[in-house]
Amino acid sequence: EAVARRVDALVRLVPDYPEPGVLFRDITPLLADGPAFGDVIASLAGAAPGGVDLVAGMEARGFLLAAPVAAHLGAGVLPVRKAGKLPGPTASASYSLEYGQASIEIHPTTVPDGARVLVIDDVLATGGTAAATVELLQSCGAHVVGLAFLVEIAGLAGRSRLGGLPIDTVLTVD
Ligand code: IMP
Repeated sequence: EAVARRVDALVRLVPDYPEPGVLFRDITPLLADGPAFGDVIASLAGAAPGGVDLVAGMEARGFLLAAPVAAHLGAGVLPVRKAGKLPGPTASASYSLEYGQASIEIHPTTVPDGARVLVIDDVLATGGTAAATVELLQSCGAHVVGLAFLVEIAGLAGRSRLGGLPIDTVLTVD
């Protein structure tokens, strides 16, 4: 539909970034287009039927989407940070990268027990980041009601790692 076409036109494809063989999707042209950015935020906010208490965004591009979606919904925003950025106490989850491991952290005291949380990021690729985020939130007592992404790279099958949770994507590519 129209929003997906705008996203497709405004996401820049960068071959061999950050490594040879990777086709990187650069969302900065989309962020810089006011009307398109507004439509994208409204579309992502529509992924939260039944209301949410918190919108969680993954560092760093997820922050740029989660905060306006949260404001749009009247919800709070929860930054899911890379390890070592938040003052303690934190809760963390580790996950595998192509080479090595990464950890993400949140402040568990900002997640009330049973809080309804929508998870947002720019790109769903292999699903490792999103799966670790869901696991971390659930371990803190959150009720993850769904996830929403600007772009889903369907060929990498990230969706299959998300335990059947509702997933909304503005644009799906191969
Ligand atoms: P995954 O864990 O493999 O699903 O990768 C998703 C994470 O890597 C997200 O936090 C994205 O921001 C980032 N990412 C992966 N591929 C791209 C891309 O092509 N453009 C922008 N971010 C990407």
